[in-house]
Amino acid sequence: MKKILLIISILTLNICGTLAQQPQLTQTEKYLDAMHKYITSEKLFGYVKHLSDSAFEGRLAGSKGMEKAARWAQERFKEWGLEQVVGAKNYIQDYPHPSIEVMPGSTMNIWLPVAQAKSKEPVWVAKQYPWGEWYAGGTSGNGEITAEVVYAGFGVTAPEVGYDDYKGIDVKGKIVLIEGETPNTSRECADLEKWYPYTLHQHKVENAVKHGAVGMLYKWVPGPNNGYDPNFIYAYVTTPIVNDLFAGTGHEYEKVIEKIKKEKNPASFNMGKRATIKMNTVYNPNAKGLNVIGMVKGSDPKLADELVIVSGHLDHLGMIPHHIAGANDNNSSTAVLMGVAEAFAKSEAKPKRSILFINIDGEEAGLTGSDYYTKNPLVPQNKVHAVINLEQVGVGEYIRIGYREGNPELQDYFNAANTKYVHRLLRMWANAHITRPRTDGAVFMKAGYPCVDIGAFGGGWRSYYHDPRDDWNTINPEILQDVAKLVYWTTIEIADK
Ligand SMILES: [Zn+2]
Repeated sequence: MKKILLIISILTLNICGTLAQQPQLTQTEKYLDAMHKYITSEKLFGYVKHLSDSAFEGRLAGSKGMEKAARWAQERFKEWGLEQVVGAKNYIQDYPHPSIEVMPGSTMNIWLPVAQAKSKEPVWVAKQYPWGEWYAGGTSGNGEITAEVVYAGFGVTAPEVGYDDYKGIDVKGKIVLIEGETPNTSRECADLEKWYPYTLHQHKVENAVKHGAVGMLYKWVPGPNNGYDPNFIYAYVTTPIVNDLFAGTGHEYEKVIEKIKKEKNPASFNMGKRATIKMNTVYNPNAKGLNVIGMVKGSDPKLADELVIVSGHLDHLGMIPHHIAGANDNNSSTAVLMGVAEAFAKSEAKPKRSILFINIDGEEAGLTGSDYYTKNPLVPQNKVHAVINLEQVGVGEYIRIGYREGNPELQDYFNAANTKYVHRLLRMWANAHITRPRTDGAVFMKAGYPCVDIGAFGGGWRSYYHDPRDDWNTINPEILQDVAKLVYWTTIEIADK
């Protein structure tokens, strides 16, 4: 017994002795220590998988599913000890956000004429398509319509550029089939700006309603960002359905599009077919958007009121009417943001300046969360050194840093961080025009913040944008980890400079 006690005492002495001899960690070593503990591919991938679960119902802004996701982020911030900022009680900055939820029972089919041997009149047969070839309109009115389908090109009426898809056609009481975007193919700033208002999905719905259409088949990826008219019912369609509608009309879909783009001349026509669109939707006028915001305070009393913001949107498309996980768009970014937040919150070293983390709501619903934040900021804008906005960072091999030409200094911080600790291929993307007009990053840039939009791309990885296949099984956990490390060290570069 005595022997055992002696051995235990020696062991204890040895352990204590070892501890006592351990050298003090430097600031950088403390940062490294926190990074290795809290930013791991396994942990970040776990967040993506968790938020991709159908229990979150695709996280539509203003829905129960999004509220659940916001609570999840809120609880993590609380658990890790992030500070609350004035204006975001319990880490939540809420704002009015009326929403439309698509319910089960929403369907879409096309009526195709089938010629009969002994009759001049065809028989009309309803063709149903599997979900994935069509999607419910994310902001559709509630009800059922059956009407003739008229092809109306891009659905654009732009008098100042002399272009009108509705010229010479009658769409009153009909369903229009239209494309996303515009016929513009130029990348020149002046042209992009001229056509910009007509790229907005809201324009397509408003313009169709103005011309008397009762519904729309929209050839574009699904989303809840089209404006809302309670009497206008619509669904998204993909190429197989569009090809069925074009069949037998004497027009070929791809060639028609090519011609419109080339000649800037509309080619609208009545397709001689009908569609039935039944959308079971509920309008919630009093719903709220929820930005989840927490802070890690800077360590230098003189500089702690200056900041770096790390942001990414937490919302997605909701149920349309089935579940879309949005694993890359944008659970990947939430995972990275949360990993970086935990590392800074628990690190023994803190940068001189503070870091504000914003899980943004309503990106998919028209950038409402970033718009609300930039109009109602919780920290003074002139104290913000950089906004690092994350957008789809879970699929790919290289990291793209998009920024405005006016802020070339931002790339230096990323290059410095990458060279020291990450070693990924970075592609710098300077833009005269604001990077992608439909990202939260663009909202911050337009509001005058020095801001970068970060995304992952390439390496043979396939990403599925606004598609049911955008699920956790397509995510590359290693790129998640490296983006998080890059954001972590870049934030240190800026916040400690
Ligand atoms: Zn997104």
